[in-house]
Amino acid sequence: MKALRLLADRKVELAELPEPGPPGEGQAAVRMAAVALNHIDVWGWRGMAFARRALPITVGVEGVGTVEALGPGAAPALAGRRVAVYGGLTCGACKPCLQGRDNLCDNVAGILGFHVDGLAAERIVVPARNLIAIPDGLDWVDAACAPLTFATVQHMLFDNAKLEAGETILVHAAGSGIGSTAIKMAKRIGATVIATAGSDAKCARALELGADHAINYRDERFETKARRLTGKRGVDVVFEHVGPDTWSGSLLSLARGGRLVTCGATTGITAPTNLMHLYTQQLRIFGSFGASHRNVRESLDKMAAGVTPVIDTVATLAGLAPALERLESRDVFGKIVLRIA
Ligand SMILES: [Zn+2]
Repeated sequence: MKALRLLADRKVELAELPEPGPPGEGQAAVRMAAVALNHIDVWGWRGMAFARRALPITVGVEGVGTVEALGPGAAPALAGRRVAVYGGLTCGACKPCLQGRDNLCDNVAGILGFHVDGLAAERIVVPARNLIAIPDGLDWVDAACAPLTFATVQHMLFDNAKLEAGETILVHAAGSGIGSTAIKMAKRIGATVIATAGSDAKCARALELGADHAINYRDERFETKARRLTGKRGVDVVFEHVGPDTWSGSLLSLARGGRLVTCGATTGITAPTNLMHLYTQQLRIFGSFGASHRNVRESLDKMAAGVTPVIDTVATLAGLAPALERLESRDVFGKIVLRIA
């Protein structure tokens, strides 16, 4: 079978591998249909000093496919189903797992496609409990963006920041996969959305997605504009994933008692924080990483109800390297998805 293998930093090969063996206890064999690319793939591609893993490795953290076979003990209802693959090898037995807070698992064995072989292969064998059935009628390309992209945003906006109808949210990097998703999810519940982007063209796209306002952060200070747009009050929620380039401005954009939720730091990993502003304004900061199985189900349900991902490019497995370059260059609006079958 074909699989996309990362051999060394920035060296990916479409390799011919032996088929995986039959699924063991609690496992399922899945014929993969599509994988969506994420920044974690860019990090993986660049090589990460902190990642304990042996190369080569099959890439692909987020994807979908069809269950072909089930091992003993796997839920029979999964037989033949189209499924989304949850990428975290959580234990399913610790207290957070049993509480449905999978991304706080005490015993994570790794992330598929980052620490251990991932989803960009024609066939995979994974724990059946990592599989979430896809509602009928959902397109493969859209569904491929559910288990990480959509689920991450769902977790950030609704479990952590608890965004409500009538509130105002500032969404950074409207052209990113999670930024474009956040705009659509926030609009769907009736929030007012102020988006930022790095070009007028991306600002125009953000408005097309339903954002109420779009700020080109290269032309003007987004925090000043955000405060002006809210009558000096500030926004209720900031959706952060940029890092030091925006961090101070994001905190200054918040209303008193506002919430900042972050899941990334694409411009660096440390940023100064005005602590006096933090406590006097009674701000709340949420770090968010990954999502729960429930968030994946919620994401698929939202897609079935019409909140679909913004797709930048659909390519084949052979198109990974140029796709990652495109993602890294930020010359992208929405998700890049690779079709496998
Ligand atoms: Zn666990």
